[in-house]
Amino acid sequence: MVVLITGGAGYIGSHTCVELLQAGYEIIVLDNYRNSHPESLKRVEQITGRGFKVYRGDLLDEKSIEKVFIENNIEAVIHFAGLKAVGESVQIPLMYYECNINGTIKLCNVMKKYNVKNLVFSSSATVYGVPERIPISEDAALEAQSPYGRTKQMIEEILRDLYVSDQEWSIALLRYFNPIGAHESGLIGEAPNGIPNNLMPYITQVAIGKLKVLNIFGNKYPTKDGTGVRDYIHVVDLAKGHLKALEKVSSATGVEAYNLGTGKGYSVLEIVEAFEKAANIKIPYRIVEPRKGDIAICYADPSKARRELGWTAEKEIEEMCMDSWRWQSRNPNGYVEDSIVLQ
Ligand code: NAD
Ligand code: UDP
Repeated sequence: MVVLITGGAGYIGSHTCVELLQAGYEIIVLDNYRNSHPESLKRVEQITGRGFKVYRGDLLDEKSIEKVFIENNIEAVIHFAGLKAVGESVQIPLMYYECNINGTIKLCNVMKKYNVKNLVFSSSATVYGVPERIPISEDAALEAQSPYGRTKQMIEEILRDLYVSDQEWSIALLRYFNPIGAHESGLIGEAPNGIPNNLMPYITQVAIGKLKVLNIFGNKYPTKDGTGVRDYIHVVDLAKGHLKALEKVSSATGVEAYNLGTGKGYSVLEIVEAFEKAANIKIPYRIVEPRKGDIAICYADPSKARRELGWTAEKEIEEMCMDSWRWQSRNPNGYVEDSIVLQ
């Protein structure tokens, strides 16, 4: 099967490319490298020993999407491409709405034109907003709290409308919880631009000495130790969930949302401790004011994905920390040339 991966050079996309290639799929990547580097795709080839076509192009340019469909016999699409920083989305909401929503509409227009109606979409647990109940199941109310989250919520609705209009579509809306970790090779991983917003890349940059101290956003939440609780999932487990979703959309029409999480919650302090053990490095931290818009606790009820996709996350927090650390320590500058430290 030939699968188009939009945003395939990014963090989750590159890991999914590896799993797809290793499972025998033919893949084609479309990415504008706005938040990634072509080197990640070279590393995907290195890990898998398989080549694939890459198109540099923007989803906002319908012609460049169409070129990919004209030149290849695409059968399904996994759609990762988009902007993803919550804080930035508050600063530049129009760019987020334009890129995420218009980009998806243009992609779907081209898919429709070429009669490709199997789609796996990267949604996010952020669509739930402040959850009423924990663990969160897919039927919980959707109340995204940021422009970024609202783009995901709106796209989900657009894709549901698309299915209502034409029941040949088959769409999986994958609501990711908190992906961390990296491929065990240490060759691909998360390479954020500038100072990381997310916890794990911040911790790993403190560990290599790029940042001095971890700021923990509040310790007065109603949680086991007062710090925020999240459902951290190994990015390779997450990538494998896409293969299961692809099988599902290839075998039945409809539109379904699935939580991709482990179902377990870890506090910030537990993550710091797990990382310190895995890397054998002390992480200096200080407690600062809570981050605006943060919620206390968020973890998934992943039973629908287990039941309907046959998917369960397998990797534990120790492996997530070890793999994050291997990636960061061997690539202190991410994908910047010659940054890999050979051991
Ligand atoms: P990423 O930024 O590493 O990857 C996104 C990729 O899309 C990048 O390679 C970027 O260059 C590309 N891209 C962005 N806009 C594009 C455009 N207009 N045209 C073509 N390419 C474009 O992000 P990621 O962490 O791999 O996330 C992938 C998807 O999963 C995103 O849609 C994100 O919103 C969603 N998601 C991520 C997380 C997370 O914590 N990483 C959580 C929930 C959902
Ligand atoms: N967090 C923190 N310091 C940081 C980054 C994050 O204390 O520098 C906390 C944050 O308040 C939350 C958890 O770590 O409780 C996970 O945050 P992240 O931004 O990684 O994910 P999200 O909040 O989007 O779930």
